[in-house]
Amino acid sequence: MDSYWQNWIGGEWVDGGAGRLTVEDPGSGEVLAEQAAADGADIDRAVGSARACLTSGVLTDMRPMERGRLVQEMGRWIAARVDEIAQMLTCEQGKTLWEARTEASNCARYFEYYGNQAATLEGRSIPLGAGYLDFTALEPYGVSAQIIPWNFPLEITARSIACGLATGNACVVKSSEMTPMSSRYFALAAEAVGLPRGALHILTGWGHQAGAALAGHPDINQIVFTGSVATGQKIAAAAAQTVVPCVLELGGKSAAIVHDDADLAAFEMDVRRGIFVNAGQICSAMSRVVVHEAVHDELVERIAGVARSLSVGPGIERAEFGPNMGPMISEKQRDRALGMVAEAEAAGVRLVTGGRSPNLPGFFMEPTVLADVAPGMRIAQEEIFGPVVSVLKFRDEAEAIAIANGTQYGLVAGVFTRDLDRATRAARGLRAGQVFVNEWFAGGVETPFGGYGKSGYGREKGCEALMNYVQTKNVAIRLR
Ligand code: NAD
Repeated sequence: MDSYWQNWIGGEWVDGGAGRLTVEDPGSGEVLAEQAAADGADIDRAVGSARACLTSGVLTDMRPMERGRLVQEMGRWIAARVDEIAQMLTCEQGKTLWEARTEASNCARYFEYYGNQAATLEGRSIPLGAGYLDFTALEPYGVSAQIIPWNFPLEITARSIACGLATGNACVVKSSEMTPMSSRYFALAAEAVGLPRGALHILTGWGHQAGAALAGHPDINQIVFTGSVATGQKIAAAAAQTVVPCVLELGGKSAAIVHDDADLAAFEMDVRRGIFVNAGQICSAMSRVVVHEAVHDELVERIAGVARSLSVGPGIERAEFGPNMGPMISEKQRDRALGMVAEAEAAGVRLVTGGRSPNLPGFFMEPTVLADVAPGMRIAQEEIFGPVVSVLKFRDEAEAIAIANGTQYGLVAGVFTRDLDRATRAARGLRAGQVFVNEWFAGGVETPFGGYGKSGYGREKGCEALMNYVQTKNVAIRLR
């Protein structure tokens, strides 16, 4: 692996005005490489280059189908290198190699999907009587600023740039300072397929410096942010100052409601994927299970069985899907999760399994199951962003939905039952952007994703997302 990585601005690989930052391997705690850290001047150059690309017309004059073809070619370039990209992702992010392969493959799918959608965006004609011809056109906002977190650096970047480019925006991406290196493949893909210079920029730098400079830049036209609520609030404040729209994809505290008629054996796989993939560092993780009292004890044992079955260790050694889990991203994140579990125990919660850090170098935490959790407790209200599931008990349907809805978030929710009426009532009553029935994470690149409440606003994924990247122009022609 190279010991130093640069940013990509205006088609050139460049150093950063803020010097260098170090990237750690979460699986060992050792330094992996150094990465150029962008400052405000670098951001300014990237935004200027994106603006020049737009002004030249090279992106917007192109027939959308041709633009879509370039986007698809980027996806094919990535798909052909999934193994190589996955290795890099595991090294810097920690997730198991099989999870990294899944992420790299899903990342390619966004380019396939949005490349296909490029030619589908159409305006409409509005009848105004004999004297007028009136139509609408959907035009790109212009410079799209995209700020990315570390938990799914490839998928989250892909869903924004594929959609942004397909709709004719020039994109400036600020990747996370913890996982900047795998993003380099987007630049390499763009170079390989001949994406017009200036259509895409890939930079990293610290959030308070490069991130803030990008979000507050006076010459951007739209922001897409994925990350924490606290940072999202700063992004929204910056967007208010420059009067640009933003999409905010923030955190979650999502609940699965499990009824007494649910298939509990099948639910084990939902828990395994829902809270232990990526060591629980998933915004839409199944961080709460709200279970009917009649099957509570059995389900707690089943969930604990799943947790105990997982072998925890370096992601690079875990190449196949199976009972395994990688580290958390950093010591700080791991210690925060451990601290929240210890606090919950002190408040009377029952630690069924896990809750400690195994004796390994790197930032590991045991898969953790908590029972006897009350809905109002901090552990049931705040996002942990780790491999910790809280189990809560309910007596009737109304109580289950009230518990599920009883946080400040509303990203996703799930209901597990064989009763269609019950599932449908829950789907209507749950306040979340996405409701899974009988399979956690059911959906795909084609299905809209985004939050209610403090989980954010706007939608990514699916054709809904296209509308966040374009604005409507109405053209009214007076006929004489
Ligand atoms: P974070 O908010 O700390 O950082 C996200 C990005 O924002 C990083 O690139 C960071 O450098 C940048 N940033 C930080 N401060 C900034 C500032 N003042 N101005 C501009 N940019 C700034 O979040 P994180 O710790 O990287 O990610 C974890 C959080 O992200 C969790 O809360 C999780 O739920 C959320 N998340 C949400 C989704 C979703 O789609 N809803 C997906 C993944 C993660």
